[in-house]
Amino acid sequence: MSITDEGWPIRWIDTHCHPDDLLNSGKIDEAWQRSQMAGVEHWIAIGTQESDGLLYANAAERYDFISYTVGVHPLNISSISLGALEKIIASWDGHLTRRGFVGVGEIGLDYSRLPESLAERETTIRLQKESFEMQLKWAVRHHIPIVLHARDSFGDVMDILKYAEVNADKVVFHCFTEGPEEICRLNACGMCASFTGIVTFKNAKNVREALKMQGIERLMIETDAPYLAPFPHRGKINEPAYLSLVAQYIAQYLGISISELARHLEYNATAFFGLQTKSQKNEKIATN
Ligand SMILES: [Zn+2]
Repeated sequence: MSITDEGWPIRWIDTHCHPDDLLNSGKIDEAWQRSQMAGVEHWIAIGTQESDGLLYANAAERYDFISYTVGVHPLNISSISLGALEKIIASWDGHLTRRGFVGVGEIGLDYSRLPESLAERETTIRLQKESFEMQLKWAVRHHIPIVLHARDSFGDVMDILKYAEVNADKVVFHCFTEGPEEICRLNACGMCASFTGIVTFKNAKNVREALKMQGIERLMIETDAPYLAPFPHRGKINEPAYLSLVAQYIAQYLGISISELARHLEYNATAFFGLQTKSQKNEKIATN
C-alpha cells in the first residue's frame, strides 16, 4: 500500500476495467502486482457480453481484489437477438448472490458506428434502445448500480432513464466525454459521471471542465483498461495500475492533495457499488 506525504494510506479503486485478456492470457498476477505497487487495490471488472460476465464472476470468486458487473454493451447487441438477450438477462438472477457481484453494465446507447443507410440506422437504434430498456428494467427491479455507456447518444440515454424510473443515485455515466452543460444536467437529476485517462489528453479541455463542475463529492475514476491509456502511455495497452496516473493528474488539476482525493474517491466508489472497505472486512473477520 502506498502512503501519501500526509501519512494517509492510498487505496485507489479502478471502477471500470475489462481484464478479460489479463485473465485469459495468465498475465493477471503480474498486472495485480503492478497495480498494488501503484496503490490500485481494487478492480471492478465490467461486463460487455455474456462470456466476459461469466469469466469475471469466476475471477471474483478466486481473487479478492475483483468485483464485477454483467451487461451487454450496445455495440454487442447486433450480434444477438432480443430473444437471446432475454435469456441472458434471466440468467443474471444467479449473479445476485454471487461473491463480488456489484451491478449491471455497461449498458446504454452507442451511435458512433451506425450504418450508412437510413433504414439500417433506424433498425440499429431501435434494437439498441430496446436492449437498453430490457437491461435497465432488470437493474431497477433489483435496486442495483447501473454503469452506463453513452456515446454520441447523451440525449436519448437521458430520455430513456427518465421513463425507466431509475434510482438516480445508482446511475454512473462511465467514461464521461461530454462537457459542462451535460454534466450539470445529469448531476441535477442526482446521477454522477466517472472519468478516464481522457482527462490527461491535451485536447480534452471540455471533459476537464465537466470534471471540475461535478467536483470531488461525486467523482469516480476508472481506467477502462485495456483502452484509453493515460498520458504518457496514450495509444498503448492500458491496465489498472495506470489509474494512479489519472488520479495524480486530477489532484494537480483540481489543486487538492493526493490524500484528499484518495479519501473522496474511495468513499464515493465504495458507497456507490456497495463495496466493503478494508476496515469493514477486518471487522467481519474479528467478529467471526
Ligand atoms: Zn468499458
